[in-house]
Order: sequence, then C-alpha cells, then structure tokens
Amino acid sequence: MIFRQLFDSTSGTYSYLLASRAGGEALLVDPVLEQMPAYLQLLDELGVRLVHALDTHTHADHVTALGALRDATQCTTVMGAYSQADCVNQLLSDDETLNVDGIELRALYTPGHTNESFSYWIGGAEPAVLTGDVLLIRGTGRTDFQGGDAGASWDSITQRLFPLGDQTLVYPGHDYKGWTRSTIGEERRFNPRLAGRSREEYIEIMAALNLPDPTMMDIAVPANLACGQPPGGL
Ligand code: FE
Repeated sequence: MIFRQLFDSTSGTYSYLLASRAGGEALLVDPVLEQMPAYLQLLDELGVRLVHALDTHTHADHVTALGALRDATQCTTVMGAYSQADCVNQLLSDDETLNVDGIELRALYTPGHTNESFSYWIGGAEPAVLTGDVLLIRGTGRTDFQGGDAGASWDSITQRLFPLGDQTLVYPGHDYKGWTRSTIGEERRFNPRLAGRSREEYIEIMAALNLPDPTMMDIAVPANLACGQPPGGL
C-alpha cells in the first residue's frame, strides 16, 4: 500500500495520500488548498488516479482542497454524514466502509472537536486510524466551537478509538511539534489529558484552555462549507 503523510507547515495540518499500488486508485484525506500543486505533482509521479478527496470535518484553520481536487481530477468529494457542506458528493454514515482499490476505510462517528467529525479506520496487517482533530498526539482537538463538546470528545476517544486496540497506529490531522504518529496504546497511557483522568476532569481541562480563535477561522469555515470554493471566491 502507498501511504504518504503530507504536511502543510502554515497550518500544521497533516494530509494523507492512500493508494493500493502504482497505477491504481488513490484517496486524499484532509487536503489543504495551498498544497494543490504538490498534490497534483505527487499523484502524477506515483502514477495514481485520485478517485476520492475526503475531509474528516469542517476545518477552521485552513481552506480545504476538496473542490479544487474535484475540478482538477474529477474525483468525488466525501465527508461524514452530518457535514453541512452541500458541495460534498458522498456522505458516509457511521460504520460505513469506503473502498478504494481494495483499501477499506471504515467511517467512525467521533464528535467532540466538532459535532460532525469522523475518524477513519484502516484494517489489515498494520491497522491505523486517521483521527482528524479528535485525538492528537499527547493532546486532543479543542472543543470550544463548531458544535464542539468536551464530553462527546471524551466519549468518542474512550468508546470508539481506544477499543481499536493498543497496537493501532494513530495518524492525527495536526501536530505542531512535528510528531508524525502514535498508537492507541501510547495515547491511552501517556496522553496528559486522558491518562488517569475521569470524564469530569477532562471536561474541566478543556473548559480551561481559553484558546484564541484560529486566525483563518472567519475565512476557512465559510469557504470549507463550499469545499473551499465560495461563490465570491476567497
Ligand atoms: Fe479541526
């Protein structure tokens, strides 16, 4: 399997390119608009054909490349069932599977960071989960806007992600320190917001973060509800 973790340094966003083989079909997860030239070049160099572009949730810190990729490659645009983005071609329900040339991604509804966030589990010999911003490496996604809810975040992480098993690799939607991946077992034992905490403590921790709004938020959220292509342009 081809699996590439791609980084947008401006927003600290990880995007993921998956394909079963050279010459086959490919999927891009959480692509960033500014990285379009790099994506098109890499798809071309690997000889893969993009069939789906997927966002784990409506991002507030960068503009999605879903619409631009659809226009450039005729791929379908995919999000979870509760997305408000009416430009999306395909909405996945909880536990629904997306098959890309033999690679199966199972959609897991994991609200908390936003009320429409999904994670995507990839089975096989080395199981992995793309967690979007619900579970980060030694952190968790903020829960103070876009329908975020700290209790829902705790429930998603402990009831949907932890049962995937300690060996499951964790690939998050962001990292600001350059850490690239973790495992469910590591996060269960060492994530300072989760390890040894109760649900009530977690809700208190999240309520005390007092983070500023992302600088891109007023542009990114409306743009992303139109797949990065608002009617009047960005
Ligand atoms: Fe996010």
